[in-house]
Amino acid sequence: MQARRKYPKTRSAAASARYAKRRKSRLARVDNDLTDAEWHSLLDAWGGCAYCQGEGAALQRDCVQPVSRGGRYTLGNVVPACASCNASKHNSEVTGWLRRKRLDERAFLLRHATILQQLMPGPQPDAQPDPLPDR
Ligand SMILES: [Zn+2]
Repeated sequence: MQARRKYPKTRSAAASARYAKRRKSRLARVDNDLTDAEWHSLLDAWGGCAYCQGEGAALQRDCVQPVSRGGRYTLGNVVPACASCNASKHNSEVTGWLRRKRLDERAFLLRHATILQQLMPGPQPDAQPDPLPDR
C-alpha cells in the first residue's frame, strides 16, 4: 500500500502569502551555512544528481531533509539534484520519495553517509532536529 500525501492543487492568495512568510521566517531562523566551496565539493563527490545519477543537467541544491521539515542548507543536508528530481521531491520525506520513485534508497543513504564522512572529518554533531509539525 502506498502512503500518499495529497496537497491541495490550488491555494488561496492569503494562504500562499502565509506559506511564503512562514518559509521565510523559518529560513531566517535556521543557519544556512553552506559555502560555495562546500557546494563544489558536494558536486565533485556526487558527480551528478544524488538521486538519479543524472549528469550534465544543471544541478540544484536540494535539502535532503526539506526546509519544511526542519532541514537546513548545510553541508550535512544538501545534495546536488537535477531539476526533475528536485521538483518531484519537493517537500517529501526523502526515503518515502525514493521508494515511490523506485530509486535505490539504500544506495543513496549509504553514499550520502560516505560522502559526508569524507567531507566532514571527525565527529560531526549535525543531528537534524525532529521535524516540527507544520501548522
Ligand atoms: Zn535526478
